[in-house]
Parts: sequence; structure tokens; C-alpha cells
Amino acid sequence: MKSNRLSQVHQVVEWCPTCAAPCILSEIKFVEKKSRSVYVKFDLTNESVWAFPELGEISRNEGAVRVCILVETLNPWVLPFSLGISLHSKWDYVAIKVPALDGTEIWIVAQIFQEAIEKFIGFEKHSLPLLHFQGGVLHRHYVKHPFFLKNLMIILSDQMGYASGTGAVLINPGLNRDDYQLGLLYGLRIDSLINDQGRYTVDFPEMEGQSLFQANDWIISNLQDSGIILLQEDVLSRYLCCCRCDQPIILR
Ligand SMILES: [Zn+2]
Repeated sequence: MKSNRLSQVHQVVEWCPTCAAPCILSEIKFVEKKSRSVYVKFDLTNESVWAFPELGEISRNEGAVRVCILVETLNPWVLPFSLGISLHSKWDYVAIKVPALDGTEIWIVAQIFQEAIEKFIGFEKHSLPLLHFQGGVLHRHYVKHPFFLKNLMIILSDQMGYASGTGAVLINPGLNRDDYQLGLLYGLRIDSLINDQGRYTVDFPEMEGQSLFQANDWIISNLQDSGIILLQEDVLSRYLCCCRCDQPIILR
């Protein structure tokens, strides 16, 4: 009978890409920095639209060119690492009709944020939603990644603030401890796209050798042209920084 067993346990740690080393708590400080807030459209897969027949029906009736979940982020550079999108398990969601250049789009947002989002895109008054529902109806269905050939699972989580947003949050298990636990819970396969210096490997060929923060410009310019990203204003936010080199750190 075997008495000793080895098991490999992964951990998310604070990591400085500039020093190519982990940081302990006393080596970390907060800094304030301006960041560009963006909305990103994540299209539901066709199967996921029709897994919720009422949504499938309105999509067909409206001749929608896109049925998407809208997500807000201050860090478009995290998109390559995103493996899921979480919706709040107790919030109400709405499907709203949005005119676009190539036809009608249907956006899914939390009802509490509908007015702010419609104001941002220039609606004079808020619209009558096409559909009301709870996030649970989309649980474990999928949206398409905006530039990788992979799908992201829609999961449920209660860890979401009321302050701003869309009611949908990116899940990046390789960059965040809570997301890592959610990733384990939902069996999401965690990719490591960067090396110790925080530079992309061949797994992201368009950005190979570039720093992960440089992906922001690539992502914004590529997705803005196709209408997948909508730019908002710069906002001030707090970042973790390495005390040794004064450069931003990540969790990995
Ligand atoms: Zn450093």
C-alpha cells in the first residue's frame, strides 16, 4: 500500500513581470492611474441563443445580426486570459434592441444598468426591453471570445458591485484568486499565455514577444473597428505596483 502521494497544487501569486519574480506583501504598493473603460460585446453562440427559446424567437423576429452580453472592463489587456463571464445569480437581466450600422443588435445587460448604458449610446429615453429574465437561464451556456477561437462559459457569481458596469464580469482564473477558485469549480482550463517577463508566448502569435500590457492597444484598435469594443472615458483606478521597480504587477 502506498503511504506517500504527491499532488501538484497551483497557486495564483503576485508577480512582477519587470523583475521576473514573485512579490511578497511588503514589496507591493497601490498607485492611482488613469485607465480607459470599455464596453465589450460577447456574442452568444447560436446554440446558446436557442437554448433559451424566448431569446431565440426575439432574435429571429428582429432579424438580429448579433445577440451579445455586454461587459465593462478597465483592462482590455486581460481579454486573452478570459475563460468565462459571470452573471449575478439574483439580478434581473434585460434584452434590449440597439440599432447598429449593419442591422439590429440585441444586448443583454442587468436591468439596473440599462438606463446608464442606453444614455451612453445616445438613447433619449430608456427603451422598453424585449425580454426580462434571470441570469440563471444562461447558466453554463457559452459566448464567443472576441478574437480567439474559443468559447467562454457563462457562470453565476454573487461577487458583483452595484456602482457601475453591465451586470456581467470577465472571469480570468489565471490572473485573479477568486476567479481561480471559480475556474476550478467550473472546470475551466487555465492557459498561461505569458512567460516570466510578462511577454506573450507563441500561444498568442499576433502579440508574441510583446508585454501583456501592450495588448491593450492591439485589442482596442482591432475590436473598435469591428464595433465589438465601445470606448468610454478615462477613469482613475488603483493598481498594484512593485516597490522594487515601480512597475505594475500582476497575479499569475
Ligand atoms: Zn519589479
